[in-house]
Amino acid sequence: MLRGLRLLCPRCGQGRIFRGWFAMNERCPACGRKFDRAPGYLLGSIYINYGLTAMLVVAMYFGMYFGEVLEGQRLLIAMTAFAVVFPLWFFRYARSLWIAFDERWDPWPNEEERRRENLQ
Ligand SMILES: [Zn+2]
Repeated sequence: MLRGLRLLCPRCGQGRIFRGWFAMNERCPACGRKFDRAPGYLLGSIYINYGLTAMLVVAMYFGMYFGEVLEGQRLLIAMTAFAVVFPLWFFRYARSLWIAFDERWDPWPNEEERRRENLQ
């Protein structure tokens, strides 16, 4: 999980998962782990991104409302801006954490991937 937070390959901890803000390497440059294992595989990261964004918005909304930091329209605008900007920034971390979580429970390559890629 720490490797996930550092955007590094969860398998070897050496290769970078991303080569740009949104561009992912197909495989780990160091150990060859495939990052996008199957069609739709990376959709799981949306649960992480959405879940954290929703929890933060709720906590911040009530914190600011009852702390009388912001009210009404301004609070709504601030929370909306946060709910748009935060997931964009967190996108890479959500994917990286998803891949790390997956590596923990289903290490690459599993039996089927081994067969498909003719690994031993
Ligand atoms: Zn690696």
